[in-house]
Amino acid sequence: MNDRPYLIGLVGGIASGKSTVARAFERRGARVLDADTIAKGLLDLPDVRRELAAAFGDVETGGRVDPPKLAKAAFATEESGKRINAIMHPRVAAEVARIVGEWRAAGYRGLVVVDAPLLLEAGMRSSVDAVVYVDAPEAARRERARQRGWADAELDRRERLQWPVERKKAASDAVIPNAGTPEELEAAVDEFLKRRAP
Ligand code: ADP
Repeated sequence: MNDRPYLIGLVGGIASGKSTVARAFERRGARVLDADTIAKGLLDLPDVRRELAAAFGDVETGGRVDPPKLAKAAFATEESGKRINAIMHPRVAAEVARIVGEWRAAGYRGLVVVDAPLLLEAGMRSSVDAVVYVDAPEAARRERARQRGWADAELDRRERLQWPVERKKAASDAVIPNAGTPEELEAAVDEFLKRRAP
């Protein structure tokens, strides 16, 4: 019996299917933490607001940090991307650790899946037990990002702020392929869990 939850960090390129894989794990009993959601929940902390204002000027609407406005400022250049990462990454990592600590204290010993696209870039490798890379072909990712309303240029710009996908893959402990249908993806998650089972 483990004495603590087992943490999986999910990484992959933009629109590779990380959230979809996280939901598949959730249906199989895992608990999921989403780094983006956690980050958004931290935006209105007084010291975060102060640091964001110092770095990017006015990114608020009606007295609250406005995520689209912030994204526009933060993803403008490589430099601004580094700045927002430096503000948010350590706080997101601390929040993940805090939540998992609470679950552990309450007796949870199961799987925790952390959907954190920038986990490796953020230096959070050592805060999870395994990094799993969701592997979707670039053409499929582009098509899915387009359906999300992103032009190719937007995807390129955001990806330049991340490690190249090949580097992420090489730094991961396991790969879940997502080159086929949603059903095949479900099967790949089952396969992964089967391999991992003690
Ligand atoms: P990410 O979290 O990596 O950005 P998502 O899980 O949100 O990616 O997936 C991006 C989009 O692609 C979503 O609309 C999702 O439903 C869709 N998608 C993911 N995997 C598949 C698949 N195998 N077949 C069809 N659509 C998929």
